[in-house]
Amino acid sequence: MKRKTKLIHGGRPFDPHTGAVSVPIYQVSTYKQDDVGVHKGYEYSRTGNPTRDALEAYIADLEEGERGFAFSSGMAATHAVLSLLNAGDHLIVTDDVYGGTYRIVTKVLSRLGLEADFVDTTDTDEIENALRPNTKAIFVETPTNPLLKVTDLAAVSQLAKAKGLLLIVDNTFGTPYWQTPLTLGADIVLHSATKYLGGHSDVVAGLAVVADGQVGEKLHFVQNAVGAVLGPQDSWLVMRGLKTLGLRMEAHEENARAIVASLAVNPAVGRIYYPGLADHPQHELAKRQARGFGGMISFDVGSAEKAAEVIRRLNYFTLAESLGAVESLISVPARMTHASIPKERREQLGITDGLLRISVGIEDAEDLVADLEQALR
Ligand SMILES: *Cc1c(COP(=O)(O)O)cnc(C)c1O
Repeated sequence: MKRKTKLIHGGRPFDPHTGAVSVPIYQVSTYKQDDVGVHKGYEYSRTGNPTRDALEAYIADLEEGERGFAFSSGMAATHAVLSLLNAGDHLIVTDDVYGGTYRIVTKVLSRLGLEADFVDTTDTDEIENALRPNTKAIFVETPTNPLLKVTDLAAVSQLAKAKGLLLIVDNTFGTPYWQTPLTLGADIVLHSATKYLGGHSDVVAGLAVVADGQVGEKLHFVQNAVGAVLGPQDSWLVMRGLKTLGLRMEAHEENARAIVASLAVNPAVGRIYYPGLADHPQHELAKRQARGFGGMISFDVGSAEKAAEVIRRLNYFTLAESLGAVESLISVPARMTHASIPKERREQLGITDGLLRISVGIEDAEDLVADLEQALR
């Protein structure tokens, strides 16, 4: 089945109980038992709910995994997956990881005894050098935010398998439409479904997919024990969003290409970060590993003042956190998503005060390009 077909026919494309082609919102917490312990597969909605089940089967199919899980946010999904580790375990994490992931690892899980090192995972040697006897997992985000760095998942997976480590991949930027990390050897894929999968800036949700049934049992135990599950209404919204993921990702990408082409010849623009550019350090890898480059672009306009001026003059790019929705968004990572990172460290990473990040929407490319051109002028 090709990808766009799978987006429509994958998972459970209709309700097994009624045949409804849009899986109903089972707004219910508990289920009648015919006798003590005799039920139709559902006892209580934290443990399982038919609408959430449909989403979980759907994302498992899209990511080519064994079992899927839906959580109340991307961070709840990350928390559940990292709860598979124990106190005293060590974790290796991409240095340019999502700020919330950095925060939960360094400020929450560290208090519970989880040790972590943040390294440039685009360099497999750096991962190898960070290995300790108690290392249990590698957490990779690729492409990253906001610098769009790309990690070689097949190479890291080889290393993880050789050392018996879990490879966890945050696939929020790639989406299963462009890349399927489990097919490259990852063990667990994570999503903030708030972004591209939901796609309409109307729901906060998280998903996880595991390649192995035993890991799936453990993750279901954590999901049920901790309880940060996605409600039926939000599960339905994510499924509704997912059906058009292919159309949207193609549109995001096409618009991103037009914008990058215009930025590349604009004298007001310094460095541009986009995996589709031939001078991107991991361009060849990005081409090999993914089926598309995505709709996220970062570029440098030189200073915080210029960045603010450009944003003030834009008409179609909304100043907002988040990404991956139908409308174009713009942000200043140094002052928004990455403000908690010390300036020195930010500059080291390349997250300068003049860096702008855009999440390209699905508006008309000509309008977006013209808008950026007038604002940069
Ligand atoms: C937004 C985001 C998250 C966190 O997801 P929430 O749904 O906001 O909790 C995790 N990883 C990446 C890459 C993100 O962009």
